[in-house]
Amino acid sequence: MKYIFINPVVDQMYVREKLDKVLLENGYQRVEVQTDWHKIVKEKYAKALKETNLTILDRRCPKAIETVSPYFDEKEMLEPNIEPILIHCAIELATREDLKQYKKIITTPCESLATYGNKLGLENTEFISWKIFIKKLAQEVEGKQLNESPIPPGYFTDLNVKTTSLSTKESIENYFKKCLHKQDELVEMLYCHNGCNNGDGVLMDE
Ligand code: SF4
Repeated sequence: MKYIFINPVVDQMYVREKLDKVLLENGYQRVEVQTDWHKIVKEKYAKALKETNLTILDRRCPKAIETVSPYFDEKEMLEPNIEPILIHCAIELATREDLKQYKKIITTPCESLATYGNKLGLENTEFISWKIFIKKLAQEVEGKQLNESPIPPGYFTDLNVKTTSLSTKESIENYFKKCLHKQDELVEMLYCHNGCNNGDGVLMDE
């Protein structure tokens, strides 16, 4: 038996019971995290904001960070040492005593998060985009494309700091080309339009 963590986007694309049944038939037991990483990651950003005068860049989306790279200026910006929420979940599962000896699959909404996760080399843990995983399963599960992300732009709103929220490659590039970060304390960045429901690992019509 292998354990599988279903990311929040995929979770909402399926009827849970139907999906879990297919997973079990194929030797995968769904596993959940025990910690509210959504809340803790936000608290880490709140702490980072208190400790710097630089503009903090949202590090939840590896592809957005890659997009900023040509414009990054360490005198004005900070990429805090805070892993994406999904990575926090994976680290919890990889280090949990009761799961230690078992193989864990972490599903991702995009290829970039899968690549990023696999580079960490977490023990007995493999990251794979949902799209690739479901293809390998070779069994149909009825699902739907989501119109909204479970974590839409606006994640940092309740931190009440000067924030710009960007989602798409173009909006990220335009913002940094114009040096608009100078006006902000925090920049929320998601590469996919409106968030992870449009990731290349979950889009169903590609
Ligand atoms: S799905 Fe899109 S927005 Fe979400 S982490 Fe991946 S690239 Fe970024």
